[in-house]
Amino acid sequence: MVGSAIDGSSSSKLHVIILSSPGAGHLIPVLVLANRLAAEHGVRSTVLVVTTAISPESNLVNPPRDEELVEIIRLPPVDISNLVDPSTKVVTQLRLMMREAVPLVRSAVAAMDRRADALFVDLFGSESLQIAVEFNIPKYVYCTSTAWFLALSVYCPILDEKIEGQYVDEPGHLEIPGCKPVRPEDVVDPMLDRGDQQYREYLRMGKEFTFCDGILVNTCEDLEAKTLRAFRENEAMKAVLEPPVYPIGPLTRPAEPSGLKIEPMDWLNKQPNGSVLFVSFGSGGVLSAEQATELAWGLQLSQQRFVWVIRPPTEGGADDAFFTANGRGSSAELYDHYYYLPRGFLDKTKNMGILLPKWGQQVEILAHPSIGGFMSHCGWNSTLESITSGVPMIAWPLYAEQRMNAALLVEELGVAVRPEVLPTKKVVGREEIERMVRTLMEHKDGEAMRDRAQQLKTSATKATNMSHQSMCKILSSIEAKKK
Ligand code: UDP
Repeated sequence: MVGSAIDGSSSSKLHVIILSSPGAGHLIPVLVLANRLAAEHGVRSTVLVVTTAISPESNLVNPPRDEELVEIIRLPPVDISNLVDPSTKVVTQLRLMMREAVPLVRSAVAAMDRRADALFVDLFGSESLQIAVEFNIPKYVYCTSTAWFLALSVYCPILDEKIEGQYVDEPGHLEIPGCKPVRPEDVVDPMLDRGDQQYREYLRMGKEFTFCDGILVNTCEDLEAKTLRAFRENEAMKAVLEPPVYPIGPLTRPAEPSGLKIEPMDWLNKQPNGSVLFVSFGSGGVLSAEQATELAWGLQLSQQRFVWVIRPPTEGGADDAFFTANGRGSSAELYDHYYYLPRGFLDKTKNMGILLPKWGQQVEILAHPSIGGFMSHCGWNSTLESITSGVPMIAWPLYAEQRMNAALLVEELGVAVRPEVLPTKKVVGREEIERMVRTLMEHKDGEAMRDRAQQLKTSATKATNMSHQSMCKILSSIEAKKK
């Protein structure tokens, strides 16, 4: 039975801690979960954010909606500079940061005025699950990616025993019990090189995920029915992962009620419905100079309208003020700052598009009626934001588990096109880009994908009900343990 604290009517509300790894892509879904717990269940959350000396994107995240029920504590910055060198890969870095943060998490939990009733950790925080054991409270993993990613992660230790040599050299797909097999070139980054430390860290993560009371996944039945069924029914999978898997998605940030505060709102308002392609590669996606040039010309050749969140290949030195003041311009300074933009591009696309430097209000842009397509790196947050806005995609995976997300979107859900060869393997040429953009924005195929995206939007809205039920189950079980 769902307890009174869960529907928000009790003064003795449940209090959960949610641990977030550094980076906008991690903090955003954590805050969305905390806000959802407050709004729908009256649950109080303390979000512990692991920080580093430089994590500027955290400032871009909206503050919590419910300040009474959601508290954010930024932990003192962790310093891993003596543990890494320039070759240290992202997963290793994140794991090291989260390992260094364990004592900070423990102190923060011990110092809390209100006893916590449960600990939730995001994907990279699984080493902190031990703290829940120390404080004798239930512990949950919050998987901010797909159920398919979760399946691969928990099954990877078995693949590690079964397969010799590099996964990418395997002749056939990698089999995961009850799930869609994974094309070797689509594996997550840490599986690309079994000799690297980040592979060993990933294996450990997969094992740690299994020592919890349940796993929340930001997905729903209509997106991943097969994989979710495998967790419930497939004996081989259940032998690997015993704790229940709860689909609680799709959780996405709501669009700001005030809408877009800056560019490109005025411009978007003037464009026909469904006519604009939004181009953005997440919080960390950066293209090579050569690829950016091909993309620029591909957009120009397609003759479609666009909004492009543009980021220099290396950070620093760019004069944002120029862009913000002018929206777009065609000046020599602009080429100097964004030197990879080919000369002539700005003039040739003068009335066709808007460039946004470094960051755009993605949720608000995707929700705008004039947006008809999204060229995306397929980060899972971006993917869900696109789906819940009913916008079909050009899948341009770059890192992490994005190649699997792209495969899901193209092969299972039918809401995306993608380049013939992975963009991480080969520069995608302007003609192919033109073709993909035209397919999505103009052709019958694009129309079918748009219809499919609209259907998914509808079923994602319906899934909210089931996700609410899943969340109630988790909270009931936390409540029962509290008593
Ligand atoms: N985002 C945004 N504006 C940008 C780039 C990213 O608002 O210009 C947000 C985006 O809406 C999403 C998150 O940052 O919520 C990125 O998460 P995702 O999982 O898509 O990718 P990651 O950045 O983690 O690779």
